This record gives sequence, structure tokens and C-alpha cells, in this order.
Amino acid sequence: MKYTVDKTGYYGNFGGAYIPEMLYPNIEELRESYLSIIDSKEFEQQFNALLKDYVGRPTPLFKAERLSDKYGAHIYLKREDLCHTGAHKVNNTIGQIILAKKLGKQKIIAETGAGQHGVATATVCALMGMECVVYMGKVDMERQKPNVERMRILGATVQPATSGSQTLKDATNEAMRHWINNPTDTHYIIGSVVGPHPYPDMVARFQAVISEEIKFQLLEQTGSELPNYVLACVGGGSNAAGAFYHYLDKEEVHLVAVEAAGLGVASGESAATTALGKPGVLHGSKTLLMQTQDGQVVEPYSISAGLDYPGIGPMHAHLFDVGRVKFLNATDEEAMKAGIELSRLEGIIPAIETAHAFAALKQLNLGQNDVVVINLSGRGDKDLDTYIRWGKY
Ligand SMILES: *Cc1c(COP(=O)(O)O)cnc(C)c1O
Repeated sequence: MKYTVDKTGYYGNFGGAYIPEMLYPNIEELRESYLSIIDSKEFEQQFNALLKDYVGRPTPLFKAERLSDKYGAHIYLKREDLCHTGAHKVNNTIGQIILAKKLGKQKIIAETGAGQHGVATATVCALMGMECVVYMGKVDMERQKPNVERMRILGATVQPATSGSQTLKDATNEAMRHWINNPTDTHYIIGSVVGPHPYPDMVARFQAVISEEIKFQLLEQTGSELPNYVLACVGGGSNAAGAFYHYLDKEEVHLVAVEAAGLGVASGESAATTALGKPGVLHGSKTLLMQTQDGQVVEPYSISAGLDYPGIGPMHAHLFDVGRVKFLNATDEEAMKAGIELSRLEGIIPAIETAHAFAALKQLNLGQNDVVVINLSGRGDKDLDTYIRWGKY
């Protein structure tokens, strides 16, 4: 079984590039050049140097002893929360800004949900001296005020998206519209493994550094590079793609993705795409998405802005379809409790997105010899307001 993208841009039945004709030149330019650029020595050196000295990689792999005791297994945390800017997103923006430079682009646009991708994009634009416009849903701007100001301090323009539910999906629509109108001088940095081919593959390759490091760190700490489980939360799926990447063809490693159930899968207020979605086209690729009988996108809901998305990347749709990855979900309540639990047991306040992955520990049938790696995708500083409003700690 093949789990990575094929030559035509598909993962099984999912993927492709469903784009308006006006975007053909942009996507075609990327498709033709991304592999030769990424695989070049020069790119690799620049990428690795920035990951090391700017992002702070390799991020630690930490054995969480008290959490391990509680769940009766050996639980390791991959500390993406310790990346510069506080989440895994920067791995991808570093890769894409170097690529944009090599393509001769002067301007960057991006969309953002939780604000983490916007901050990660604004950060690398400041680093490289590029102009930056970030589209963000108006509702998300209110939920994630500190990140809005962070982007502005970094010199980016934050453009509110005021259509639809005024969240991530709408910000993505408006960023695409901007790109259509500014095709030649602008690169669009998509923040997850979504969008038309080659974005899902490109972003997965940049995030794959996560599992590359887990392999050698686990070998060092346990004597084997293969854990029994790898867990990650899924919004679009980039941190999960990175954590799974080098284990995809190691069938003995159980890969577990955790989606946001919101108020409950059956509540009508949810973002659990694999539980509720059907095949459809969203933001340029064929994938699973939450939709009505007649194909209208259903507004998702999650307490965490980063998981509040009605689809998942096409690679994950395929991994779900063929059963390579097990998809679970956690409600707002379960995630918040898991976030507080991690804070109390390990002294780490996770992003609420990440807390969903921890909430799924209870749903696994763990044995005392099992080695579990959880991708700790981000830190909870940006979510303090939500923790405070939730209040139960
Ligand atoms: C953006 C974000 C996510 C969700 O995005 P993926 O592409 O699914 O990884 C998860 N955790 C954190 C901390 C984020 O910022």
C-alpha cells in the first residue's frame, strides 16, 4: 500500500488540484519546481540551518513519567510546543519562505485559524524581509487577540475575513481570492496539509522532520525507533502528517489521529470530519468534508480555533479510507480536562488543539509495555483566555 502522493497529485481517491483557471499558472509553477528545489543541497542546508538555530530543533522527546503512571504505559511527548513561536507551524513556514525566495516572489499571503500559522508566517516574513498579508476570520480575531497583535508587531497586515462563519474556512477562501488577483509576485503559504496539489505533499515533507527526529530520539531512549502508538490532533492534519510520516509504512506502529468533537459528534456543533464527512471538494482538493445532503459545507464548531475546520487534508482522508490511521475524537469538555491534567501532571500547559490528542489516551487499550508518542503540537499561552473562561481548575 502506498500512502504518499502519486505522480498525478492523488492519495488514492483523494487530492488533486481543483482550482479556478486563473490559478493554473501559480499552481503549475509550484508543481513543476517544488521537488527539485526542496531536494537541492542548497535548500536542504538553508532549511536545516534555520530549523536548528532559529526554530530550536531538534525539539526534545520527553518521557512523561507521571502521565505514564496514570495511563499504565510509556508515554513520550514530542515537544513541538518548544519551537520558536510555540507550535509546529513554523517548520512549514520556514520551508515555504525559502521556496518563495527561490521562486523570486516578493510578497507572502497566508490564512490563519488559531493565529499560530499567521504568527509563524509573519515571523519568517520579518526574518526574510518580505511583505506579509494574513487573512483571518473575524470571529477568530476576537478569540485569539494576542496572536493578532503578535502578527502586527511583526509587521504583517491582518485582513479580517467577514464571510460565512468568519473562521478558518472563510479566511482560506479570501486568501485564495487574493492570490488569483496577484498571481505573479505573490506566494501563498498554506498552513496545513490541505489545498491543491502540491501543497499537501509539500507541507507534509516540511513537517516530516518531526517523525525523523522521533525515530532517532526514541532509538536513543528505548533502543527501538518504533513506538506502539503515535498520537496527534488533526485540524487540517499537518502536525499529524509530520508525526506519522516516517512511520506510514511501518504497519506495526498504530497511528492515531484525534479530531475535535466540539459539543459532541451528534450535537450539530462539531468538527469531527471523518465521523461526519463525505467526499467533496474543498479549497482545491478532493477530500472528506462536512456537508449537507446537497453539498453545502457545514459550519464546523470546536472550542479550539485550530481544529475548527470542516475538512481534513487528502492524505488523511486516504489514510482513514484504507484504515492505516485510526481516527478518534474528543469533545471540548474532554479536551479541556486533558489540558488541565497535563498541566498538573507534567507542568506543561498545552494548546487546546493539542489537548484533544491527550483526551484520546483514555480511549486506547494501552498495555504496560506499550510505548506511546504524543505529538505536543503547541503551547497553551495563546489559549489562556479560553482556559480562564472554562474555569474548572
Ligand atoms: C494549527 C494547529 C493545529 C492544527 O493544525 P494541523 O494542521 O492539524 O496540525 C494543532 N495544534 C496547534 C498547536 C496548532 O497551532
